[in-house]
Amino acid sequence: MATLPSTGTWLSDEQKKALRDTAEAIVADGKGILAADESTGTMGKRLSQIGLENTDENRRLFRQLLFTSKKEIGQYLGGCILFHETLYQKADDGTPFVTLLQDRGIIPGIKVDLGVVPLAGTVNETTTQGLDDLGKRCAKYYQDGCRFAKWRCVLKIGEHQPSPLAILENANVLARYASTCQQNGIVPIVEPEVLMDGTHDLERCQIVTEKVLAAQYKALSDHNVYLEGTLLKPNMCLPGQGCEKKYTPEQIGEATVTTFRRALPAAVPGVTFLSGGQSEEEASINLNAVNAYASKYPTKRPWKLSFSYGRALQFSTIKAWEGKAENVAKAQDVLLNRAKANWAASQGKYAATEAAAVAGESLFVANHQY
Ligand code: 13P
Repeated sequence: MATLPSTGTWLSDEQKKALRDTAEAIVADGKGILAADESTGTMGKRLSQIGLENTDENRRLFRQLLFTSKKEIGQYLGGCILFHETLYQKADDGTPFVTLLQDRGIIPGIKVDLGVVPLAGTVNETTTQGLDDLGKRCAKYYQDGCRFAKWRCVLKIGEHQPSPLAILENANVLARYASTCQQNGIVPIVEPEVLMDGTHDLERCQIVTEKVLAAQYKALSDHNVYLEGTLLKPNMCLPGQGCEKKYTPEQIGEATVTTFRRALPAAVPGVTFLSGGQSEEEASINLNAVNAYASKYPTKRPWKLSFSYGRALQFSTIKAWEGKAENVAKAQDVLLNRAKANWAASQGKYAATEAAAVAGESLFVANHQY
């Protein structure tokens, strides 16, 4: 048989080491990711919750609040995902946001997908676009300080979903993206999100997530992606938002870890879950349960199980801020507390305590766009 190329053989040892070091640093010691890469439209929805207009300045002010938090936040966050606009913004005193993150030991990352588009011939399924000039954009983002990237694909659970076509197409586009990132020194975060929308039960979500991940790692292997230099950003296995049956965090932890044991290669250094519409408290409690279950059989958990939360890290923060300068310090403390809660949960050490009422509010958005 002719020699086949295999995982990562097209990268030099130095390139592989740099990718591996970045991926491992992001999830070291319980650390996770702040996903602050909402597109301009999504940011508009967040700002409207506190009655603010969706202007460049309001988006900048909110992100400035996040990135000027106390340096302690760097103990809990290994990375932060930015939107293109934010990467080039500065604080009031002229310090680039990238520098603020680096000063806190937080690695800057960048959202590089250009959003979802319909997949013709399916029932409302989608693929994600943005491959055309991705190599060039990655090279520029690397120069500008980014060391990792995110690309989100979306899969739905329904009577006719996910279709084999949606699973295959999304797995492939994520693999092409991952390979392009690695060619440019950027760690790809691979995000095949199975949405919470629907009335399906936990068991159905578990089966779908397993099939999606199995297809994903087949595609990454086909594209010779260097798995040690990647991170996975999946959904937890959860019942649909409209499911009547209730499950305990322990059941969610077991279903989620069981799925990864079946479908996720040990070479991947870390899993950074999205919050997906869970409340801030649920996202912390369930992450804790995932880690508690995984720790029962330590020889069967080769990866870090951490977080890359958008809504579940920022909701009570933006509420505390209300767009007012006098609330900035208070809102930064709220962010610090949530980051610390998830850092503890990533190590199975989170004890749900006196979280504020807003932290329990559902953050579900039907057919969520990012
Ligand atoms: P949520 O945590 O709000 O689901 O978002 C994370 C994310 O980055 C989705 O792509």
